[in-house]
Amino acid sequence: MKFGTKAVQSGNGPDPATGAVMTPIYQTSTYHQASPGQHKGYEYSRSGNPTRASLETALAQLEDARFGLAFSSGMGAEDAIIKLLKPGDEVICTNDLYGGSYRMFVHIFQPLGIRFRFVDMGSTEQVAAALTPATRMLWIETPTNPLIKIIDIAALTQLVKGKGILTVVDNTFATPYLQSPLKLGADIVVHSATKYLAGHSDVVLGAIMLDDEELRNRLFFIQKSCGAVPGPMDSFLTLRGIKTLHVRMERHCQNAAAVAQYLAGHPKVAVVNWPGLSEHPGHAVARKQMRAFGGMLSFSLKGDSQADAFKLMEKLRIFTLAESLGGVESLIGHPATMTHASIPEAERLKAGLSNSLIRISAGIEDAEDLLADLEQALAAV
Ligand SMILES: *Cc1c(COP(=O)(O)O)cnc(C)c1O
Repeated sequence: MKFGTKAVQSGNGPDPATGAVMTPIYQTSTYHQASPGQHKGYEYSRSGNPTRASLETALAQLEDARFGLAFSSGMGAEDAIIKLLKPGDEVICTNDLYGGSYRMFVHIFQPLGIRFRFVDMGSTEQVAAALTPATRMLWIETPTNPLIKIIDIAALTQLVKGKGILTVVDNTFATPYLQSPLKLGADIVVHSATKYLAGHSDVVLGAIMLDDEELRNRLFFIQKSCGAVPGPMDSFLTLRGIKTLHVRMERHCQNAAAVAQYLAGHPKVAVVNWPGLSEHPGHAVARKQMRAFGGMLSFSLKGDSQADAFKLMEKLRIFTLAESLGGVESLIGHPATMTHASIPEAERLKAGLSNSLIRISAGIEDAEDLLADLEQALAAV
């Protein structure tokens, strides 16, 4: 089955109880038992709920995975994955990591004895050099946030193959429509479904997809024991969002291309980070591992003034200044003071996260309107 058909059909009913075509919102915490232990597969909604079960089926199908697990947020999903580890274990992560992941790794799990090393994963040699006998996990995010760097997933999974090291890919930016990490050798795919999968900026939800049954059982045990499960309403909203994922992604990619090309030709713009531009350092790898170049980009201004960046963002009318990404509406953000504010300044600048860097999540509006909005705002700085 092709992707669009799967996106529309997966996780659909008919509901066994009523024949409803759309999966109903089973807003219940508990389930009747005819006699202790005699039930229809559900006992309590932390361990299972039919709306969530439909979503988990759909999630698995999107990544062509055997199993899907839904969490109350992307961070809830990431938290469960790190809990596969124990004190003394080491994780190698990209140094251009989602700020919330960085915060959880360094401030929650590091004090509990799990070690995190941040390296430039664009270089397979640097990852190889960082491996130690204690390395148990590679944490890959590509395209990265907010510098939109590309990491070669196949090269890294190949590097650690047979070494007892799990490879995790945060596939939030690419979505399964553009990139299939499991096919490139990864063990676990994680998503903030809050972004493109749900797609309408109206729900917070996380997802894990994987093929290994033993790992799936361990993650399910963590999910039901620790309890970061999504409610039925949020599961329903995400299921509904997924039905249009392929249609939205196509337009997100087209609009990002138009915006990136426009900005690349603008005299006030210093750098544009979008992997579809042939001068982007990750262009060749992106061509190889992605089916298109995605809806996320970032750019910085000549002179690198934070004040200019703020002025530009205040002048924009169609782009909404807000955290998050992946919704139908175009969003802008200032990573240095918003999503990445918890990264110390010296580390931030060293990683290339400059003061005027602006991140764009291209929505699905008409490209002409987006370009006109940028034109008038850039004229004002
Ligand atoms: C938003 C995001 C997360 C965290 O997900 P939440 O749903 O906000 O908890 C993790 N990784 C990436 C790349 C993200 O953009």
